[in-house]
Amino acid sequence: MRLNVSTALANPGQSYPFQAEILIPPMVVLDDPVSFSPVRCEGEYVGSGSAVTVRAHIEGKVTSRCAKCLEPVTQDISCQADALFTPGAREGEDEYPLEGYQVDLMPYAREALLLELPMRFLCSEDCKGLCPHCGANLNTTRCSCREGDTKPNPFAALSELRIEDEEV
Ligand SMILES: [Zn+2]
Ligand SMILES: [Zn+2]
Repeated sequence: MRLNVSTALANPGQSYPFQAEILIPPMVVLDDPVSFSPVRCEGEYVGSGSAVTVRAHIEGKVTSRCAKCLEPVTQDISCQADALFTPGAREGEDEYPLEGYQVDLMPYAREALLLELPMRFLCSEDCKGLCPHCGANLNTTRCSCREGDTKPNPFAALSELRIEDEEV
């Protein structure tokens, strides 16, 4: 979603309200798939010299997978973000390129929302996760692995890794 900011560049100091719907492509974050619903972005932009500052509230829904059972989890996500768009800027550090009279809101919204991602997604507070022996989802299945086998399984972490690989 591109925003034409020529009026703001011609009238420095004047703020212009805007709202936009932004599509963010799905991505992989720390080995987990992350996708967003179309996000709403509402705020204002102000020109100063050859740069434009965008301040907006961004909100939508994010889907990733439960850190314990690997099932999909969708939750609300929102943030308030400021960014400076200048000619020739590289993306990052809250600075983005101003291309002619246009700013591309997608990288800005994406980076702002990525900062708001939870440390890990959980389908519920008491998710039982996967059986470390057979990989069954213990929320929906009772596997036949022996309970009461309390010896720590040194391969549990490995088998979780293997399961994640198979999911991909
Ligand atoms: Zn879960
Ligand atoms: Zn099992």
